[in-house]
Amino acid sequence: ALPQSGSLRLQSYNETLENQQRHRLHLQQAVRGATQRGEMSLAFQPKLSLATQRVIGAEALLRWHHPELGHVSPGDFIPLAEASGDILSIGEWVLEEAMRYIASWRKQGLLDDDFHIAVNVAARQLARKDFAENLLARLAKHGIPERFFALEVTESGLLSDMHNARIQLAQLAEVNIAVAIDDFGTGHSSLAYVKTLPFSTLKIDRAFVMDLEKDAVDRHLALTITQLAHAVGCDVVAEGIETAAQADYLRSIGCEAAQGYYYARPLPADEFYRWCTDWTPHTPNACHGVS
Ligand code: C2E
Ligand code: MG
Ligand code: MG
Ligand code: MG
Repeated sequence: ALPQSGSLRLQSYNETLENQQRHRLHLQQAVRGATQRGEMSLAFQPKLSLATQRVIGAEALLRWHHPELGHVSPGDFIPLAEASGDILSIGEWVLEEAMRYIASWRKQGLLDDDFHIAVNVAARQLARKDFAENLLARLAKHGIPERFFALEVTESGLLSDMHNARIQLAQLAEVNIAVAIDDFGTGHSSLAYVKTLPFSTLKIDRAFVMDLEKDAVDRHLALTITQLAHAVGCDVVAEGIETAAQADYLRSIGCEAAQGYYYARPLPADEFYRWCTDWTPHTPNACHGVS
């Protein structure tokens, strides 16, 4: 059996690859039309001011519940939808859905003037020549002042068409829509983006936050990113805060805002609404809800 073990291993390795490939194809097909079938929803994760502990906004995060597969993580299906192009129609659905909530929460008095909802957008959405125009028209349709709305762009995707991305982002900057570089520091040319594109916010990736307490290098990186952001007129949001010590350190270096399980998980819309009305700046660590 010994001489065969190599090829057996190769065979089972190939089968594993084939299974993964089949699973990915299956997911990619299932994601098409999932919004129309009512399988998608938005969760909202609060963002807090580190200085005042007040809620300053939330990030809208896409959730997919497939009838057979159950919950599928956006980390798994977003890249597939980006590759197939389905992200364009899904992205439109996300924008529309987020704006529906913003409009209704404003009516109910939940949103202070400095409160914003941030939506993630893929590079392919920004690559459209009419992205900003459509976005502004949609806000107008819902009667939402621009300042209640913000975007997060994952930097690795922008590469394809920097020129158009700059045109789109400049149009949004003109009307003071905050745009963040998401997962800052984990992509390929963060610094080039800071130089070229009109961002208002850098989001420090969770990868630099999770080991802050024990890793001096991460503390230096968080500090350097914060100083860089401030030097170019951006503010800083840290993601993935899970402990009081992480929040304390980030506050001490001047990071403006934070988001993470320490404060709240991403919550379904109705729970998010309740969480916001219950939250008082003196009761941190009221952690509950779904992920
Ligand atoms: P992201 O934009 O960087 O979102 C932050 C991710 O970190 C979310 O994962 C959130 O649930 C998770 N997170 C927040 N706080 C903590 C924490 O304290 N600990 C840990 N372990 N995780 C935390 P999620 O919801 O699975 O989303 C993954 C990624 O999928 C997002 O990363 C974003 O890039 C993408 N995504 C989600 N929704 C959308 C969408 O509507 N459109 C697009 N284009 N991408 C989306
Ligand atoms: Mg994001
Ligand atoms: Mg992020
Ligand atoms: Mg991240």
